[in-house]
Formats: sequence, C-alpha cells, structure tokens
Amino acid sequence: MTRELTCIGCPMGCELTVEVENGAAVSVTGNTCKIGENYAKSEISAPVRAVTTTALTAEGVPVPVKTAGNVPKDKIFEVVDHIKRTKITLPVKLGTVILENAAGTGVPVIATKTVG
Ligand code: SF4
Repeated sequence: MTRELTCIGCPMGCELTVEVENGAAVSVTGNTCKIGENYAKSEISAPVRAVTTTALTAEGVPVPVKTAGNVPKDKIFEVVDHIKRTKITLPVKLGTVILENAAGTGVPVIATKTVG
C-alpha cells in the first residue's frame, strides 16, 4: 500500500510517497532531507502533533497556549478539551505552565504570551 503525505518539517512542504507494509513505512521517497523520512515513518506508525489553542480565565479573558511537545494525534481533541476546562488566573507570563499533564499525555501546556 502507498500513502501520499506532505512533509510539515519546513515550509518547502515536500510531497512524500510512503510504501507501507504491515502498518510500518518500508520506504520513503520525495523527501529532500532526513526530517521528511523520519516524519513519514512517525506519521504511519504513531502520528503526533503539537497543539496550539486558546485557554480562558474564569472571566473569559483569552490566553494563547501550546503543548510543550508533541502529543499523539488521536489525543488532540482530549487535550483541547482539557485546556478548555482549565480556568486560568491572571496574570500569566509567557512560558507559564498552565497544565502539567494535558489529558494524561504527560505533556505540559504553556502560555505563549504574557497576559494581564
Ligand atoms: S523533507 Fe526536509 S526539506 Fe522537505 S519539507 Fe520536509 S523538512 Fe523540509
């Protein structure tokens, strides 16, 4: 089986063709560098993403946040839901950890802007 992917490793967006056998990538073509090959292999076996969203204070003030690392792709909605259920107290500084363990992934969520 063949999968077509667009590499998200840099703005070049190389179009990757991945040969998949038994749920694993056995060859990757179309990549310009090793990042593309690693991305394709990860995307086939265990896709992950960083999550960027907005959290709210109890008063409804928006605070931009992101996960401090990648989380499994199938956990993204749970992570966003956990962030939405977390009420933040101002002031918040850039880099403040607002969640230690987003949706049980072990990945913290941090503020990406100073607010308040
Ligand atoms: S394969 Fe390399 S050059 Fe191509 S988009 Fe991915 S990171 Fe960029």
